Amino acid sequence: MYRTHNCNSLRKSDIGKTVTLAGWVHVSRDHGGVIFIDLRDREGLTQVVFRPEENAEVARQSHSLRSEDVIQVTGKVAPRIVGTENPKLATGDIEVVAADLRILNRAADLPFQLDTEVHNEDLRLTYRYFDLRRPRLARNLRLRHQVTKATRDYLDAQRYYEVETPILSKSTPEGARDFLVPSRLTPGKFYALPQAPQQYKQLLMVGGVEKYFQIAKCFRDEDLRADRQPEFTQIDIEASFVMPEDIFTLTEGLLAAVFKAARQIEIKTPFDRLSYREAVSRYGSDKPDRRFGMELVDFSEEFRSSSFKVFRGTLDSGGVIKAINAKGFAGITIGQADDLTERARLFGAKGLAFIKVEGGEWKSPIVKFFTETEKAALQAKLAVEEGDLILFAADKWEIACEVLGRLRLRVAEMQQLTAGSDELNFLWVTDFPLLQWSAEENKWNAVHHPFTRPKTEDLGLLEEKRFGEVRAEAYDVVLNGVEIGGGSIRIHEPDLQAKMFEVLGVSGETQQAEFGHLLRAFRLGAPPHGGIALGLDRLVMLVCGEEGIREVMAFPKNNRGMDLMTQSPAEVDPRQLRDLGIKLAKDK
Ligand code: ASP
Repeated sequence: MYRTHNCNSLRKSDIGKTVTLAGWVHVSRDHGGVIFIDLRDREGLTQVVFRPEENAEVARQSHSLRSEDVIQVTGKVAPRIVGTENPKLATGDIEVVAADLRILNRAADLPFQLDTEVHNEDLRLTYRYFDLRRPRLARNLRLRHQVTKATRDYLDAQRYYEVETPILSKSTPEGARDFLVPSRLTPGKFYALPQAPQQYKQLLMVGGVEKYFQIAKCFRDEDLRADRQPEFTQIDIEASFVMPEDIFTLTEGLLAAVFKAARQIEIKTPFDRLSYREAVSRYGSDKPDRRFGMELVDFSEEFRSSSFKVFRGTLDSGGVIKAINAKGFAGITIGQADDLTERARLFGAKGLAFIKVEGGEWKSPIVKFFTETEKAALQAKLAVEEGDLILFAADKWEIACEVLGRLRLRVAEMQQLTAGSDELNFLWVTDFPLLQWSAEENKWNAVHHPFTRPKTEDLGLLEEKRFGEVRAEAYDVVLNGVEIGGGSIRIHEPDLQAKMFEVLGVSGETQQAEFGHLLRAFRLGAPPHGGIALGLDRLVMLVCGEEGIREVMAFPKNNRGMDLMTQSPAEVDPRQLRDLGIKLAKDK
């Protein structure tokens, strides 16, 4: 046996026992010839002390120990000297007095220290197998395991079957670029890695599975933004004979089970709900963070006949006037004000008007244009008080909402409104638009995906080609301003699906070539069905209280999509390319 206990298990009640521990030398300290070691394993730390009077040879050997050497120690559990206990450590009352030491393996020069923060992420990722020894990452992987286990247990109890779907699959239109895999046996043809198991899970419903889930790997070849990964994991769910209500209840139960298992937290269900329109109108976002107020308030009516040209012009051309009250932020610095103005421009505003409420006065070059009635309206609807900062947006509805939504988040960050908060604010956002016009492609695109069902009451609008007004039976679940999942009720009728493809500009021929399997399946008695997918990495990130998904993935790629540890992507042997019938452009 390598050990009798792990490094997080010895307590006062074990004093006097002879034990054997094995693990890594976390840190070692030399106190006048007596060596103290924090011995670390996955579970925690235990202090080991090497005293010459206990075993001179072992004590001598202990002088050679360096951080990350792997050792086995046998000795007696003893109380720590009074006053040297460490209440922050579960094993902080005791130490093990070493009688025997075996060095199982030495660690060479370390790429970096594990007991300090390392800010060079590429270095951390190059030595990921080493970095994973950090207690924080060990905890994150443990929590990730607890989340997936709770997911499986919960869905199993709800009689969902876990079914695997292919990784070598066919392109699915989830909105990103596919990763392609060349087929050697059918030269010139390609598999695609799934962006999501969307079509397979719908086909499982046609196959009568009724309740499906999968902890599914998904692959999207996107330009990488800060916290994106080319491969990530979803908790993917689909069920037959369901309404949105069924999916809401199931998901709420699942999230409750997850937070209970991983964090021993009881979350409050059911979650609040907002329609997309209301979320954007009140918070300027389809994934609002509602841990703080600062809601967007509309003043279009109040300023209808304003003498302020900017407001009047906007309203006359069909735009809106909106404002937020950043409570107590009148003391904003010039740098912060510039930051907000720059952001407002970035998201489409022509400028940023604001009023500081200071010394009983409204300070702003625009106040002189306001009538008493207009001021009274601002005062009342924004509950203006001494010390407040009012920010305005005058623009098309979409832009005004987006700009103020972004500023709302930025101000909250500047004022540290959520710092140290442990609130878990869940929300459903429903009734998303079905379609979105792309000026770039000059066509309508699906907001969610092409299999999402229009709301029954909006089918008429679809017929009338008022595409922008059609709402989808689609929903997102949001936690503290982060979208953690989304799904929809699907189209199950072949004719409606074909119609949807047509609206999206997919010709009849392409429909048959790319989606023939789905359209044929729908002609064989497809049940009404719907589902959802939760982003496992994001969810675990929030469960762990981490800021980025890379901290909760064992072997993530860096922000350029590279695996620095294995140096992938990499060139391959020309023979492999020849077998695949692939010639690189640079070979020419
Ligand atoms: N497949 C969708 C996605 O990955 C989720 C769903 O509609 O169930 O976003």
